Amino acid sequence: MKCPKCKNLDTKVIDSRMTEDWKAVRRRRECEKCWARFTTFERLEFVSFMVTKSSGESEQYDRTKVVNSMMKALVKRKFNPDKIEQIINTLETDWAQNKQGITSKRIGRDILRKLRDLDEVAFLRYASIYHNHENVAEFIKFLEEELW
Ligand SMILES: [Zn+2]
Repeated sequence: MKCPKCKNLDTKVIDSRMTEDWKAVRRRRECEKCWARFTTFERLEFVSFMVTKSSGESEQYDRTKVVNSMMKALVKRKFNPDKIEQIINTLETDWAQNKQGITSKRIGRDILRKLRDLDEVAFLRYASIYHNHENVAEFIKFLEEELW
């Protein structure tokens, strides 16, 4: 079963049950690469909204980018994939409610705040990777202004 998001072939069944009419099995699957979850026998539902980049351009929201950015920050850290998915789902629901779309800056900041609660090392990595800072002093100033 191919992942519809990243085309990865390793997906696992996480839940399997009969449909209400007992005529089909509904399977929940999870991609082992990007953690996208999907259901066979049902149309996929992913939230859809526009993201405005710092350049001013807009693009369709892409969950894979969010997952990848978080994974970079979480390299070699212990974490619960379910927790990450839960965080992303919660954020996506928030973001999708903004009718005018959302800025990439807001997305970055929201992720950063979630990471702060989850894992301090990942939080610092994310802050240093996704917010460009010229030097340590500037980085610390950013942390103070944005987060504390
Ligand atoms: Zn995938």
